[in-house]
Amino acid sequence: MAAFLVRGRRIVTMDAARTVVDDGAVLVDGARIAAVGAWSDLRRSHPDAGVTEGIAEILVPGFVNAHQHLTGDRLMHSRIPDRIDSQEAIFGWAVPLHAAHTEEDDHLSATLALAASLANGVTTTVEAGTVAHPAAVLRAQHEIGARGTLGSWGWDVPDGPWAGSVGEVLDRQREVLALAPPGGLVEGWVTLVGHDLMSDELVAAASDLARTSGTHMTFHLSPHDGDAAAYLSRTGRRPAVHLHELGVLGPHVLVAHGVHLDDDEVDAIVATGAAIAACPWAYLRLAQGVTRAGRYDAVLARGGRVALGCDAENAGDAIDILRTAALFAGLLRDRSGDPASFTALDALALATIDGARAIGMGERIGSIEVGKEADLVAFDGTGYEWLPLGADPYLQLVWGTDGRSVRDVWVAGRQVVRAGRIVTVDVEAAAAAASARAERLGQTIRPL
Ligand SMILES: [Zn+2]
Repeated sequence: MAAFLVRGRRIVTMDAARTVVDDGAVLVDGARIAAVGAWSDLRRSHPDAGVTEGIAEILVPGFVNAHQHLTGDRLMHSRIPDRIDSQEAIFGWAVPLHAAHTEEDDHLSATLALAASLANGVTTTVEAGTVAHPAAVLRAQHEIGARGTLGSWGWDVPDGPWAGSVGEVLDRQREVLALAPPGGLVEGWVTLVGHDLMSDELVAAASDLARTSGTHMTFHLSPHDGDAAAYLSRTGRRPAVHLHELGVLGPHVLVAHGVHLDDDEVDAIVATGAAIAACPWAYLRLAQGVTRAGRYDAVLARGGRVALGCDAENAGDAIDILRTAALFAGLLRDRSGDPASFTALDALALATIDGARAIGMGERIGSIEVGKEADLVAFDGTGYEWLPLGADPYLQLVWGTDGRSVRDVWVAGRQVVRAGRIVTVDVEAAAAAASARAERLGQTIRPL
């Protein structure tokens, strides 16, 4: 791939100094960023480099979505009723839906979920750990050109889809790590369903597997207070404290949700360097109590690692990290009663560099800096919501718009979105196939 220049009226780098380059450009060479600077300087110093079409109003690093179910719910998009609680959403809909998925369903579902993600500027997606057919999802990730992680369904419950012994579950995890070794565009992670659906033996062994394989691990925990009640009755301890005592937590762990944590659990998370993926839309939609109980402010205040996620279509629905960042910022500001407690810049950091650090990729992505992978998002500033153009790019991005203004996206130097449309795969064909499949799945899961 020949080197090329991406031009922007404002380049929001999210580097340590939070540098913003006006009338700037980024030189992309292969998969990496080779230079960042003034457009006139880079044009002069690299006369042979190509130049991409148009000028971005704002160019930002690609967004990180740290918790996303790529399969299952997507094929029931906006079909699952929202008058149900989270247990009904999971066990009445999501689990049977996943169980009915074929390899082709997983491929279609991941393709459409990633198309929506990339078109909204989400270049890195942590798969949430509910994939039945990892090879099919990996194929979808590579075809469309999305960075991310991949796991497979892991629980050692007595029955349910893909239930197995500890040894069987770990073997499936090892297969994923072999399919997608750490460090690639898609890297295998150890993933368990979590909640109270994993034995102590399984979660301890899974954590060891992630550590010894040089990769990460994720699982669901305490989006509502039912997980705490289950752990208390089984172990006498709250979940994060119990997992800490088992030696599970560490910098290689990304806990999904962690809405309901007490002080000791916040201590355990922060002290071990474990990270949390917060999916605020899901907690609001499923009425899980984040406004009353959420402890993200405490985790952040103590230097804990937090990233943002969009979860699943029976929870958050829209895969849009900017929309999520605005909501998260609003929740924290309202909770503290102090608008200065969490700013638009803080929110954009969670969506980019801080999110990348929380998932262990802070050295490779999350900011526009020389040597980093070229994951870039160009915003178009001609939409009515941008007019008149604002002076502060963080305010404009977080409070003033959302993913709908994304025009062009590159992942590892490969253009995946041009003029708002996916250019790597035929999304319309996938959508037609998915619509037909959704009808049949709907009849299978829950005849209406
Ligand atoms: Zn989830």
